[in-house]
Amino acid sequence: MISVKNLTKEFETVVAVQDISFDIDEGEIFGFLGPNGAGKTTTIRMLSTLISPTSGSITIDDKDPKTGGEHIRSIIGLLTESPGLYEKISAYDNLDYFSSFYDMPDKQRKANIEKYLKMFGLWQRKDDLAGTYSKGMKQKLALTRALIHEPRILFLDEPTAGLDPESAHMVRSFIESLKKEKITIFLCTHNLTEASNLSGRICFIKKKIIKIASLGELQNHDKHRKVEIVFRDDATRFLPVLKNIKNILEVDTNKNKAILLVSEPEKSNPGIIRELTSNNIDILYLNEIKASLEEIYLDLIKDEETK
Ligand code: ATP
Repeated sequence: MISVKNLTKEFETVVAVQDISFDIDEGEIFGFLGPNGAGKTTTIRMLSTLISPTSGSITIDDKDPKTGGEHIRSIIGLLTESPGLYEKISAYDNLDYFSSFYDMPDKQRKANIEKYLKMFGLWQRKDDLAGTYSKGMKQKLALTRALIHEPRILFLDEPTAGLDPESAHMVRSFIESLKKEKITIFLCTHNLTEASNLSGRICFIKKKIIKIASLGELQNHDKHRKVEIVFRDDATRFLPVLKNIKNILEVDTNKNKAILLVSEPEKSNPGIIRELTSNNIDILYLNEIKASLEEIYLDLIKDEETK
């Protein structure tokens, strides 16, 4: 649905995005993560035809933004970091105005306005000026605007920023439900729990692409899997033995637990267990611990910074 090849965007003094490439399938939720200033918003702005790339190519629904911009704009919905609403007109009139640009029968358009305003709990306040809305209400109104024309692709830049926990949960469930309808979602978020729960694949960017993988693939890397051993006794007592075992690369202890970084755990664990039991050390439990997306993110970004 989206194909990006060697995309670069240079502003006067800054290279915001450098030589990035990826493909996104229809119906995929593509998490786009990176630190402040990494080039996420710039990428969204290029994909949604708001700005032109310096070099490289973009194809969306088989169209090039240079020649098929109108088609692309008709099938995408965009939620930007700032809501960009007209503050001096009502919420309803904002939606009525923005949705009038789409080629859609009036009846359908008005029905959608009502449907989404009700879904996001704004129907009772539809006649209030948008400027009088709270930050979270404006965010929901902007999300409504992005959805009105039932886009096939949604670009969401921080969709739950500023929302209370209940509203954020509702928006996440809604995003999840769009997957079933084959809507393609490009999701920029600093909320790593949100990214791990929603995204099929996650792309880490810092001007260049650092990695693209599913959470499962990321967690399966040896570096991101640890082994927890629960002993009968205080684990610090066994440190000398643990540190002497060849395939244990790192050891951390906490009360009667030891957390081990092990090379090739499936191959090494049986030998580690044998070694411990032959030293008369009782093991009560042995578990695999998978790294959270937060740990993986910090690790990848740190690696990138030390390059
Ligand atoms: P954040 O997480 O803070 O929103 P981001 O990943 O979305 O960051 P961008 O907004 O894409 O980052 O910015 C990437 C870089 O490009 C930054 O160094 C920014 O200052 C620069 N930049 C973005 N837009 C412009 C512009 N219009 N003119 C000049 N520089 C720009």
